[in-house]
Amino acid sequence: MTPEFPGGRLTIDLAALQKNWRTLRDLDPSSECAAVVKADAYGIGLEPAAKALSAAGAKTFFVAHLSEAAIARAAAPDATIYVLNGLPQGAGDAFAAIRARPVLGSAEEIAEWRGFVAATGADGAAAIHIDTGMRRLGLDVEEAKALLPSDLGFTPSLLMSHLACADEPERPETEAQRALFAELRALVPKTPASLANSPGTLLKKTSCGGLGFDLRRPGVSLYGGNPLAPRPSQLAPVVRLDARIVQTRIVPEGVAVGYGGVERTRRPTRLAILSLGYADGILRAGGGADGGRPGAGAFGGGVRCPYFGRISMDLIAIDVTDASEAATRRGDWIEVLGDHIGVDDLAQACGTISYEILTSLGGRYERRYLQGASS
Ligand SMILES: *Cc1c(COP(=O)(O)O)cnc(C)c1O
Repeated sequence: MTPEFPGGRLTIDLAALQKNWRTLRDLDPSSECAAVVKADAYGIGLEPAAKALSAAGAKTFFVAHLSEAAIARAAAPDATIYVLNGLPQGAGDAFAAIRARPVLGSAEEIAEWRGFVAATGADGAAAIHIDTGMRRLGLDVEEAKALLPSDLGFTPSLLMSHLACADEPERPETEAQRALFAELRALVPKTPASLANSPGTLLKKTSCGGLGFDLRRPGVSLYGGNPLAPRPSQLAPVVRLDARIVQTRIVPEGVAVGYGGVERTRRPTRLAILSLGYADGILRAGGGADGGRPGAGAFGGGVRCPYFGRISMDLIAIDVTDASEAATRRGDWIEVLGDHIGVDDLAQACGTISYEILTSLGGRYERRYLQGASS
């Protein structure tokens, strides 16, 4: 439901989403480009994202939960859909009902899937996850060596592993994971293999080349996040967020602003108070404080306007002293995310990553979708 008089307006550019998917696809024409749409497509909306990505040509989707797979299935009737968090006990029928494939990450899950396939005659397509260094989900190397060449009672449709450190290109772990994964996939050479996430996809042309295998699984980069920031990327912003000015005020030099009075004006300052806060996913760590890390900034009246003092639950003060007054009055809309304030810029100022900013985008915004190409 669209709220009346919202404090923030979220604009999601589905054409930019499609463009980013094509950009990533074209980085490695020899490897299929899937799309990771877990967590409500990183906050932008799973159903519209899956429809737009399908229309752009994506054929394989990854979600975290079966409930997300059901939404993806409705949006993309012909797609292949994998559930990264694996097979919950007793969920075989629910997977089969929507033709979703579990990513099996343990010997127990594999045994349960084998039993389900034997009992029902289901087609049994599923991915097998092996742990090459993340220590989260997946068979360990010894288990994988024992199980992969054996008769599993079903035919795995994908062998995958996940990179732990690819967003830091200088780290040696990525090449170690690649080499180990290549060795293990050689045990089942006919099964398609997948290793790369967004950074693995974007690193293709650098020293970490060779990560593409048969299928890549980018997530955040589809949504305009750049996991290799501050290195430049060719990805287009997908999310734009504007906030409404509730009030402006002029305060003299030396005055403390906001909760705790942690930041004082260093000159006579015109403040604008924006109608959003940490309850809307603008993390409190992005506020300003005297002597602290510089706060985040918004963009309005032609300039960057730094956040001033602590971020409140529903309000943020920004310094609009240097901005055009005509464009920073009560009722004007100020860019919080968009062409001038990138999602990685805001994330860095909040001490976090674009993933967390995107998946925290609040539920009180008005949401508008700019439609992309439909075929
Ligand atoms: C989330 C996830 C991805 C996508 O990661 P990004 O860094 O967002 O591209 C790929 N594979 C697995 C297993 C994941 O959990």
